[in-house]
Amino acid sequence: GPAPEDASEVNKWLDAHKRSFGHYIDGAWTQVSGSSFETRNPATGEVLAKIATADASDVDRAVKAARAALPAWQALTGHQRARYLYAFARQVQKHARRLAVLETLDNGKSIRESRDIDIPLVARHFYHHAGWAQLLDEEFPGYTSVGVVGQIIPWNFPLLMFAWKVAPALAAGNTVVIKPAEFTPLSALALAEIAQEIGLPKGVLNVINGDGKTGAAIVEHTDIDKIAFTGSTEVGRIIRKATAKTSKKLSLELGGKSPFIVFDDADLDSTVEGLVDGIWFNQGQVCCAGSRLLVQERVAEKLYDKIRSRMETLRVGSPLDKAIDIGAIVDQIQYDRIKGLVETGVKEGATCWQPEVTMPEKGLFFKPTLLTNVHPASTVAQEEIFGPVLVSMTFRTPAEAVELANNTTYGLAACVWSENINVALDVAAQVKAGVVWVNATNLFDAACGFGGYRESGYGREGGKEGMYEYLVPVHAERKTAAKTL
Ligand code: NAD
Repeated sequence: GPAPEDASEVNKWLDAHKRSFGHYIDGAWTQVSGSSFETRNPATGEVLAKIATADASDVDRAVKAARAALPAWQALTGHQRARYLYAFARQVQKHARRLAVLETLDNGKSIRESRDIDIPLVARHFYHHAGWAQLLDEEFPGYTSVGVVGQIIPWNFPLLMFAWKVAPALAAGNTVVIKPAEFTPLSALALAEIAQEIGLPKGVLNVINGDGKTGAAIVEHTDIDKIAFTGSTEVGRIIRKATAKTSKKLSLELGGKSPFIVFDDADLDSTVEGLVDGIWFNQGQVCCAGSRLLVQERVAEKLYDKIRSRMETLRVGSPLDKAIDIGAIVDQIQYDRIKGLVETGVKEGATCWQPEVTMPEKGLFFKPTLLTNVHPASTVAQEEIFGPVLVSMTFRTPAEAVELANNTTYGLAACVWSENINVALDVAAQVKAGVVWVNATNLFDAACGFGGYRESGYGREGGKEGMYEYLVPVHAERKTAAKTL
């Protein structure tokens, strides 16, 4: 096969930082002192860098910097802010290779995905929101930025979640304090460096690190106007409770258990490729993963045969190998959770099947897994596994498919596969999900709002609706002033 991706540029970058990172506050890097943690490459166990943990006083300094930077940033015209977003997008493209390798080393995702999917989507998100910044006065008359925004993101798409949060916030004229997940802090720090390179005014973007305690300090800070969170439903609930005591605006992008509905007239070969994308992309660590296969009974066995033979061709291995399909699971905790849930599934009566694929000797690799004979009320049918595990159930009628599809507490995404457009559109309209794809899955675009119903959260990211999350109506006095001008 082709030579593995070259990591020397990233190693040079890490060495230049002495493999030790403070926070990026008020346009400058802090020293690493006090408590810190290590971030590892999950494919090898190798420590990549030491990272400072922000305590409440670090959070406070970041918030003060963001507050101080706010008036000047708000006062810029949309065109002026757009220039920074365009510059940001261009720098992401310029450093695409280094960012992709860094993301792959820290997260364990395949280089093919970080290079061909994550990084292009990051650049696209900044370009798209540069456009919104330019159109702000025209498209959002009577609105102004929320103010200082606290953002907390997960580890499954560290760069992309950063872009989803930061690009609309800055476009709308907010200043930001963002915290990446503790398993994957490095790419956000590389983006902080890009902010510095493009001359983004100091304090407009602050990146701080730490675990849930640091996150809680952001949520509880009294001088933050809005919290935007992507992560687990469990932590989402904690944040909802904490912000209920304040006047903060809140948006939540949480978990999912998205149905992948297959009718007996579907093109089964495309369906199988859709499943590869739906559940084995990013090791299944995708909030909108098509993790629940619902297949019409008449074609179930035929589809399972096709899925099993396709699974035998999936390559599990070093994320830097350009030919692999499935990389490493992000962390031991997550690996154990996936393993435990599969064992629970089997205990509750499911049939577990895994292909005879070659596995790396060390590192956190999990075989692609198919669970059939799953009872709709069982744990694996209800709980998000967040791993390369497809859970399957069967149905007889479209009505039964809809009932099964809606039979979880989530409502993030869904897809419907059928050659009959009437069936597909009819079922799609009845599934409670923020997005429903027809004969496709996992399609994203910066122009399209993404978000959930029910326990999958509220608020949308991307598109025009995403911009409203970072805007509030101007109060009456300022509206009048604007008119007299
Ligand atoms: P997590 O909730 O454990 O952590 C997410 C972030 O919250 C991390 O930065 C973490 O440090 C921080 N955090 C933890 N406890 C906190 C607290 N008490 N207060 C404030 N912050 C706290 O989730 P995770 O395991 O990193 O991510 C996986 C989850 O994210 C999955 O459930 C997945 O479905 C979800 N997700 C959702 C979307 C979406 O758009 N809906 C996108 C990606 C991931």
